[in-house]
Amino acid sequence: MANFKLTYATMFNPPEELHTGFDKAVAALKANMGQEYGMFINGKEVFADEKFEDHSPINTDWVLANMQKGNASHAQMAMEAARKAFPMWSHTPWQQRVKLLRKAASLIEDRIFELGAAMAMEVGKNRMESMGDVQETADLIYYSCYQMEKNNGYVVEMGRDPLVGYEARNVSVLRPYGVWLVVSPFNFPHALTGGPSGAALVAGNTLVIKPATDTAWIVRLLVDCFRDAGIPDGVVNFVTGPGSTLGQALVDSPEVDGVTFTGSFDVGMKMYQDYAKREYARPMILELGGKNPAIVSKNADLETAAVGIIRSAFGLQGQKCSAASRVLIEEPVYNEMVARLKDMASKLVLGDPTDRATYNGPVINKNSYQDFKDFNEEISQAGATFLTGGKVRTDGDYGKGFFCESTFVTDLPFEHRLWKHEMFLPITTIGKVKNLDEAMAIANDVNYGLTAGFYGNPAETEWFFDKIEAGVTYANRPQGASTGAWPGFQPFGGWKGSGSSGKNAGGHYYLPLYMHEQIHTSVKVAKAAPAKKAATKKVAAKKVTAKKTVKKAVAKKAVKKATKKK
Ligand code: NAP
Ligand code: MG
Repeated sequence: MANFKLTYATMFNPPEELHTGFDKAVAALKANMGQEYGMFINGKEVFADEKFEDHSPINTDWVLANMQKGNASHAQMAMEAARKAFPMWSHTPWQQRVKLLRKAASLIEDRIFELGAAMAMEVGKNRMESMGDVQETADLIYYSCYQMEKNNGYVVEMGRDPLVGYEARNVSVLRPYGVWLVVSPFNFPHALTGGPSGAALVAGNTLVIKPATDTAWIVRLLVDCFRDAGIPDGVVNFVTGPGSTLGQALVDSPEVDGVTFTGSFDVGMKMYQDYAKREYARPMILELGGKNPAIVSKNADLETAAVGIIRSAFGLQGQKCSAASRVLIEEPVYNEMVARLKDMASKLVLGDPTDRATYNGPVINKNSYQDFKDFNEEISQAGATFLTGGKVRTDGDYGKGFFCESTFVTDLPFEHRLWKHEMFLPITTIGKVKNLDEAMAIANDVNYGLTAGFYGNPAETEWFFDKIEAGVTYANRPQGASTGAWPGFQPFGGWKGSGSSGKNAGGHYYLPLYMHEQIHTSVKVAKAAPAKKAATKKVAAKKVTAKKTVKKAVAKKAVKKATKKK
């Protein structure tokens, strides 16, 4: 594996070792399912009176883990622990924090098979995407460590203001805010928990983590990596339970100094509004939904475009914030492109995502499964055509989980609401456009601006980068039209309704979001400058010479007088 670096763009042809390691880990986990896991507060396992069973979407008979149904009192306990640990952690030299976080990242890498297998079973992600999520998490943490080092802990010597008679020294330092809350979604449970957590911790904040209820188990396994790396008690706290009660209590806690929320637009915007009802404003980084277009020009390489669009439309069953959920094709190549998409989509293998041959697993839960049926009903009512899919699968083993067919829809009028609504399912709408200007107008006419893809010639590509309103944009990429960002290569974040900070995770400007600036100006009375002293000496010497001359003159005069007298 030495020469292989797992990313979302390299995963299509992995070394055999990845498969054998993964298979072993699945077997071991399946033999040992259903254990109870605590919350983790102040370095201790904490158990709630109420529990919930964590079922797999592959087969709902599988109880993967028994988890705690935390409540407002656990929210408070976690906040207090984080508050108490803050002075110690924030005053730990950043070099030491970096060391501990690198250790955590390397433990995550060491456990890639176990974590990847658990993720496939809990999220329903295929094996390569699952291991990709784990590796991305380690890389996001490494990236924050690298940024901290590269920027020398964000201590910057500023200019010295010219004060007469005084000396000033001005230093800019970035310092942690305090207690940071990370609320994460189900679809990238590791990267979108571990990434922000790593940044918050390297910066010197202490943490409270609340994962999506659907992925409480896998995030607990991630928290174990922070614990096992030796991060001190109280620095990383982890609570599980419903967003509407426990999550809300966390957001409403007066202890919170900063938040990173990744999830849906509706939950994120509500949180943003609730969070604003305070004595003063505090930072909240929102990473929200997407309605990502892929545009195909008449000059595109259609094979490349089809491969990239298939991967982005249906990877993780369309449940990526970066999924290509809208495809806009120029009229002259529309029929040919649609035929290719139909052919490729029908070859995707739906099944147990722990199996090597499976590309698509189930959707996350019963609600999403029901949404899939409802959206397809609505699409039928609108008179559109199902180019592929449109149905759930219930035959055989499929009936035990939430399996949905990869669905391409054509002929849905552009005025229909589903062209603008994030369905977050394996449903992608395809539209025919007269020209690229029409495609761009439709592409930008949504509330979101997360990712976008384009296939066309070089001049058109420049035009696309200039016009598109999105935070992550790709051209002519077979590895994914709109998906597959990797830290350090494609920092990830959204414009408009897709994000609040305007700075992308895994990029140059991300880590400073977790710190506030403080200027240290210290002033002291100036000593006489050495250069001036020399000058003063010269003047003094001149004065002495002058005095001597005067003395000599006086003496001469006296001699003269005396001589005269004589
Ligand atoms: P979600 O339903 O919005 O939930 C996200 C998180 O918020 C979960 O941990 C959830 O807990 C919690 N939550 C719910 N209500 C809350 C409340 N009132 N207060 C505090 N927390 C609350 O999102 P999801 O279904 O997990 O994830 C899918 C969404 O995430 C999509 O919209 C997708 O586009 C977006 N996403 C965005 C990015 C990005 O980087 N921009 C990346 C990935 C996903 P429970 O699970 O307990 O309800
Ligand atoms: Mg949800």
